[in-house]
Amino acid sequence: MPLVPSAPEANPFYVRLMKLADGFRKLNVRANADTPKDAAQAVKFGAEGIGLFRTEHMFYGEGSEEPLFLLRKMIMSQGETERRKALDELFPHVKADVKATLDVMDGRPVTIRLLDPPLHEFVPHDREKLAHLADELGVKPGALRKRVEALRENNPMLGHRGVRLGITYPEITEMQIRAILEAAAELLRSGKKVQPEVMIPITSTATELAHQKVIFDRIRDEVRSRFKLSELPCLFGTMIEIPRAALRAGDIAADAEFFSFGTNDLTQMTFGFSRDDIGGFLPDYLRGGILSADPFQTIDRDGVGELIALGIARGRATRANLKVGICGEHGGEPESVMFCHGVGMDYVSCSPFRVPIARLAAAHAALQEG
Ligand code: PEP
Ligand code: MG
Repeated sequence: MPLVPSAPEANPFYVRLMKLADGFRKLNVRANADTPKDAAQAVKFGAEGIGLFRTEHMFYGEGSEEPLFLLRKMIMSQGETERRKALDELFPHVKADVKATLDVMDGRPVTIRLLDPPLHEFVPHDREKLAHLADELGVKPGALRKRVEALRENNPMLGHRGVRLGITYPEITEMQIRAILEAAAELLRSGKKVQPEVMIPITSTATELAHQKVIFDRIRDEVRSRFKLSELPCLFGTMIEIPRAALRAGDIAADAEFFSFGTNDLTQMTFGFSRDDIGGFLPDYLRGGILSADPFQTIDRDGVGELIALGIARGRATRANLKVGICGEHGGEPESVMFCHGVGMDYVSCSPFRVPIARLAAAHAALQEG
């Protein structure tokens, strides 16, 4: 039968099947989406929210020139005053980006993750591009090269990224939280519904999260009173993607209202397998029966799974109503969705096109349970 290139909701069989599945499943299904377009696509596929909005997306691809330039300006700033000036210029772009997606999601939850990659990733490295940036920033190419060099790390995936940036430069966290909360406040004031959730990446200690929570509380109070709102609903939570965070989930839940398991990094750090380089040996592992499946595709229940189950139990022992989800690639893979159901997650989040698969798998999991 030929493929039908129509909108899924135009197929009555698909609609009936999905409705049936939705009647059984207990897990909520969200999507990982970084643009209003992807968010709208995800809603069409039945996503009930966004489980991962990666803020850095605005610095890649179409329309990213200006925000990327401002980000680079911020990265190359020397000292807090200069950095704050660059952040002020970047602020309206971040706010507009978040606001457009919150608007499309029309009151459904949207988990917005603060900047995750190392800053070094955003600066140009070839001579010509560096010279161009230096020219635009009004500094000598040699001086700029030195600043870029100073950011270089031997192991950037384990380096200065995620929450660690927010600890070194609290003003980066502050700008992002202000952008999210102002976007939400403006929509609320115009009669719209919003459910933003601020998510801190790469947390490994409760003290990191507590540090960021102080900033969140302060900015929320400021924005709420400036917009004269009696309430400014926004959850504060963290990704759990480092084994230590899963082990210390009990402490971390003191400040986190939700956990989202980042199983891409959690798998990488639990096995010690680089997620970008596993192709070099995985075929041998699969052929030789060392592993039964690619752990970046299907959750490794025995190891990574144990950390997840432990993290949920410890987190909920501290905060009984802790909301728990997953936003790694596994969130759209049927076997892994079944696992997520079994350990009592509230939702899975996956790429928009996998949302229907996750809805079906969640229903199968509920039915299998009896
Ligand atoms: C993860 O680590 O599972 C995750 C969702 O984050 P990213 O893939 O952006 O590192
Ligand atoms: Mg990650």
